[in-house]
Amino acid sequence: MNTELQAVDPFELTETQKMIRDTVRDFARETLAPRAQELDRKGDFPMQNFRDMAAMGLTGIPVPEAYGGAGADTLSFILAMEEIAKACGSTALTLAAHTSLGTMPIVQFGSEEQKRKYVPPNASGEVIGSYGLTEPQAGSDSGATRTAATRVSGGWRVQGTKMFMTNASVAGLFVITAVTNKDAPKHERISAFILERSFPGISIAKKEDKLGCRASDTCIVNFDDVFVPESNLLGQEGHGFSYFMQILDGGRIGIGAMALGLAEGGFERCVEYSKTRSAFGRPIGAHQAIAFKIADMAVQIQAARHLLYHAARLKDAGRPYKREASMAKLYASEMAMRVLREAIQVLGGYGYMTEYHIERMYRDAKLCEIGEGTSEIQRIVISRDLLGKL
Ligand SMILES: Cc1cc2nc3c(=O)[nH]c(=O)nc-3n(C[C@H](O)[C@H](O)[C@H](O)COP(=O)(O)OP(=O)(O)OC[C@H]3O[C@@H](n4cnc5c(N)ncnc54)[C@H](O)[C@@H]3O)c2cc1C
Repeated sequence: MNTELQAVDPFELTETQKMIRDTVRDFARETLAPRAQELDRKGDFPMQNFRDMAAMGLTGIPVPEAYGGAGADTLSFILAMEEIAKACGSTALTLAAHTSLGTMPIVQFGSEEQKRKYVPPNASGEVIGSYGLTEPQAGSDSGATRTAATRVSGGWRVQGTKMFMTNASVAGLFVITAVTNKDAPKHERISAFILERSFPGISIAKKEDKLGCRASDTCIVNFDDVFVPESNLLGQEGHGFSYFMQILDGGRIGIGAMALGLAEGGFERCVEYSKTRSAFGRPIGAHQAIAFKIADMAVQIQAARHLLYHAARLKDAGRPYKREASMAKLYASEMAMRVLREAIQVLGGYGYMTEYHIERMYRDAKLCEIGEGTSEIQRIVISRDLLGKL
């Protein structure tokens, strides 16, 4: 029986995409998976994993070669994310935040000078990227940003606090939003800036302890009168909110892929267990209650994969993909919670134990329903796109 759903490949991946997927799959199985439990238990940032990914060229997959990246497409990045998440959710989240959020804003909206200066060190993994949109009173309503940038001679002074910045305590680069004109219409009030870790006034106020993705670094960051040179304004003044929303559209496909990988990781273990664990004289998979759970999991995983790869392909084709990215992220993240909950059930008491990994995956997957726009926000994005503003 073929339990590796992806092995039946209806997706017509290119040779490069297959090569990236297979290479990352081997790496994730051999290197990341054995480290995952310990990282989760200790809550340590997966620095060795990050360095290993950097050595393999995985820290700049969708970054153009001209700026030191692999120059691969979004789907390649999604395939890599999926394989990494199968082994370690924390490492997948670290890579997603570094690439989609910490690097791509500069690739997409930076000046040539900014791209040449800041993108290659991120792409090579020499520098870790971080993204600051969320604030204490501005999460889903990210337009309610209060962090302010005041114009001064030669640049700006930034004052404010960002919540839940992934990678922040280890990051060398922060891409953040700040209000530059409080009197402008809501979405034109905000600009985006590139901040180097060495700029005086940046401090980590708190490193969060959390339910899942425990080895991923999540911090509250204070920006206290930080001087940011004019050359570090990202793109045009007043366009920051729009840039960050566009970045989230792409990022959501990555978080969806993380959810898909986690669900698959649990599913693969669950199938194996169903064949080897016996109850009442037969393998538990021979009991229809368990067999049907496996069937339902497989259907949902495959449905999520179709949505995700489709969204990635739209993006790669330069076509609109906002709604499809939200659909894929919404479905994949909620699917992962359902599949992993059932996977724990299939393993019974053993599923509840850390030794079998699935409880970790279940905890890790919950982030996917929250980060880069909650499920409620995805439903708003999708329904607005369908209905318009009523
Ligand atoms: C582990 C982790 C890592 C993160 N990393 C980053 C990062 O790197 N950078 C960054 O900027 N942010 C990051 N975030 C923040 C994340 O994007 C926000 O937590 C998320 O957008 C929700 O914002 P909030 O937590 O303030 O919740 P709120 O916005 O306060 O929402 C609370 C609840 O109300 C619901 N809600 C809000 N508005 C509506 C509405 N209009 N209609 C219906 N329901 C609504 C929400 O869906 C949610 O259920 C991270 C979060 C976590 C947990």
